[in-house]
Amino acid sequence: ILRLFSAPVRTEGTLIGRIVVLRDVTAETEADRLKSEFASTVSHELRTPLTAIHGNVALLLSERPGKLTDDQREFLTLTQGSVQRLTELITEILDLSKLESSGLHLERTSVDCGPLAQLVVKTMEEQARTRGIELSLSLPEKLPTVLGDAARISQVLMNLVSNALKYTHTGGKVIVRLSASESQLTVRVADTGIGIAPEDRGRLFAKFFRADNSTTRSVGGTGLGLAISKAIVEGLGGTIWVESTPGIGSTFSFTLPLESLAAPDEARIAPHP
Ligand code: ADP
Repeated sequence: ILRLFSAPVRTEGTLIGRIVVLRDVTAETEADRLKSEFASTVSHELRTPLTAIHGNVALLLSERPGKLTDDQREFLTLTQGSVQRLTELITEILDLSKLESSGLHLERTSVDCGPLAQLVVKTMEEQARTRGIELSLSLPEKLPTVLGDAARISQVLMNLVSNALKYTHTGGKVIVRLSASESQLTVRVADTGIGIAPEDRGRLFAKFFRADNSTTRSVGGTGLGLAISKAIVEGLGGTIWVESTPGIGSTFSFTLPLESLAAPDEARIAPHP
C-alpha cells in the first residue's frame, strides 16, 4: 500500500509548487488494522456485560420505597456510578485507540466554528449554573470557516469547557473566545480555576495523566480527555497547548487551519497536475 503525502509550497501567499512524498505503508497499515480490531472487539466484549449490570441495577433501584433498605439503595447507587465510569472509560480508550491507529476517520468539510461554539456553551450552561460558575462566549462578528470535522471539533471544545468547569471553584469564571488570523482559527478556553503546577504541564496531554491534587482526586475523570483532544486537533492539522498559573487559572488553546488556505486537492490526496 502506497500513501501519498502532498503539501503546497507558497511564497508570500502565492502557490509556487507542491511537495509530494510516496511512502510504502503496508506493514504499518496492517498493524494499525489489527490494533483497531482488537480494541473494538475488547470494548464490545466489555460493554455487553456492563449493559446487563446497568440494566439490572436500574431495575432494583426502581423498586418501590420500603422494599430496599437505605443501605442497599446506597450500595446500588454506588455500583451504578462505577458502571457508568467504566463505560465512559471504555468509550474513551476505544476512541483514542482508533485515533492513534488512524482508524478514526476525520471529516474534512467546511466548518463554521461560531455556531458550533454557541451550541457547546449552551449545552454546558446548566452544568455551569449548578456549579455556580459564570460561563461566557466571545465571538467576533465574522469568522472564517475551517476545514475539519464538526463533531470532533465540538468534542474537543466540550472537553475543554467541561475540564474548565471541573477544575474551577464556585464563583469562578470560564470564558470561551474564538478569533482568527490570516492562516488559522484560534479557540481559547480560559478559567479562573485551580491552575496547573509547572512540573505537570508537560505531561498534561499524555494518556491517563491526572495531576495529583485534592480537586482532581475529588472530581471524576479518566485522564484521557486531553490525550483525545490532542489527537483530534493534530489530526486536523492544528496545535493545542496550555498556559497556566497555579491558583489563578488556566487557558487551553487550539488552532485549526483555515479552509481558504487549503489547496483544492489537499483533502482528497489526489495526484496534482
Ligand atoms: P480528566 O479530566 O478526565 O482527569 P483530562 O485528560 O481531561 O482528564 O485532564 C488531565 C488532567 O489535567 C486532569 O486530571 C487535571 O489534573 C488537569 N486539568 C485539565 N484541565 C484543567 C483545568 N482547566 N484546570 C486545572 N487542571 C486541569
